Amino acid sequence: MLQEIKIIQHNGKQFIPDPTKAEVPSPFRGRPEIGTTPVDETALINCCPTGAISGNPVRIDLAKCNFCGECAFRFPQKIKFTNDHKISANKLTDLVVTEGLNNKIEIDQASVDPQIKVTFGRSLKLRQVSAGGDNSCELELNACGNANFDMGRYGIEFVASPRHADGVLVTGPITENMAEALKITWDAIPSPKIFILCGVDAISGGIFADSAALNRSILENIKVDLYIPGNPPHPLTIINGLLTLTR
Ligand code: SF4
Repeated sequence: MLQEIKIIQHNGKQFIPDPTKAEVPSPFRGRPEIGTTPVDETALINCCPTGAISGNPVRIDLAKCNFCGECAFRFPQKIKFTNDHKISANKLTDLVVTEGLNNKIEIDQASVDPQIKVTFGRSLKLRQVSAGGDNSCELELNACGNANFDMGRYGIEFVASPRHADGVLVTGPITENMAEALKITWDAIPSPKIFILCGVDAISGGIFADSAALNRSILENIKVDLYIPGNPPHPLTIINGLLTLTR
């Protein structure tokens, strides 16, 4: 017994008491900030492997950014990554970070369907579909449910059947091979339901955006309720995005 108490004292808290207030230490890369120092914009744009940077004024689109850090490494006087992990949004336009405007990225509560908060505010069961994912986002989603992050304390859990789910959370760029499976899953979930894109690959295709192996046509007919950027997103980004959407 004494030995066990010693181990507990030595290990300290094995959980995050309040994930909504937790901070992620550097070198984590969260929301970027773009300064007003003039740089060679063409070189800056060309250094990005995913086409996430545009110029005049300089902007970074987090829907395309894979958080590789190359732009901040090459142009530290212009771009830095903060440790602000709360970067989920429900509008694609809100994922664009603009030079000199270092606003927080927030969910536009005015455009959230009120039924989402009423229905899912205290319990949200999600069916996760890895549509060509590389297991990075899937690992972080798994971490959301571990003893450390404990997303289940908010009633948010993943379930094994779309029939038991309130929504679908997609990872991966949506490959042709998974397009029909994703549609079948979405159709099998009873309404009301929500649709979430998690990770840069799901949001825009990421580095696979131009691949002929993708079939993202399902997105033409579905309203996306939440975009969770990152490659992969941090568990705290995922948890805070889901909580802000549903509460
Ligand atoms: S961190 Fe994002 S914006 Fe910067 S180079 Fe990498 S992908 Fe492009």
